Amino acid sequence: MKLQQYSLVYKCVQIIFPWAICRVKNSPNRIYLTFDDGPHPQQTPQILDILKKYQIKASFFVLGFRSQENPHLLKQIIAAGHALGNHAYTHRRLWKCPIKEIEKEILLTEKIIRQHTGVRTSHFRPPYGFFCPTIKPVLEKHRYKLVLWNVLTEDYQGNYSTEKIVAQTLKATTPGSIVLLHDYNDKNNNTILVLPELIQNLKANGFQFGTIYEI
Ligand SMILES: [Zn+2]
Repeated sequence: MKLQQYSLVYKCVQIIFPWAICRVKNSPNRIYLTFDDGPHPQQTPQILDILKKYQIKASFFVLGFRSQENPHLLKQIIAAGHALGNHAYTHRRLWKCPIKEIEKEILLTEKIIRQHTGVRTSHFRPPYGFFCPTIKPVLEKHRYKLVLWNVLTEDYQGNYSTEKIVAQTLKATTPGSIVLLHDYNDKNNNTILVLPELIQNLKANGFQFGTIYEI
């Protein structure tokens, strides 16, 4: 699928499921960088260094099982002033699971994050962005917001050049955009390579950077 087609998909999702947040409304000049699937023992610290260098804040949607393996990284993320979101315990396609299983995934991850940081997560991003409308009452019960994205950087595409990823991300990013990146990329190192140039360009375009805690 081309990126323009993706942007149409996000617009449709937002209309059909207004409670699923793809972008932040009334957010002049503010955008939200989000990093999924970590924490990763090498990549997450490198990303934290880059964010520190450019003095910006971002959000990390962490997996429960990887948080359990690297709890010190959760602490580093919070200590640096970034936000933590819940990305489920495993990385399964949850729309195929019974709702009780989904609830378990969310609560177990919440427990691990809370244990190590004292932070109670209240933003959930389902793996692959796949969800079923039956998740809504579960999220309401546990006071979660469902946060997706409206800009796909495709940083996971190993054969894409830095230039291509930066160019297509800049083209798709508008005020209020939620930008999807990854701090656990097992196929390539694209995110680390792309991030400095991407941030420089976004800053040059006048964007400021917020976290999901503002949503
Ligand atoms: Zn993911």
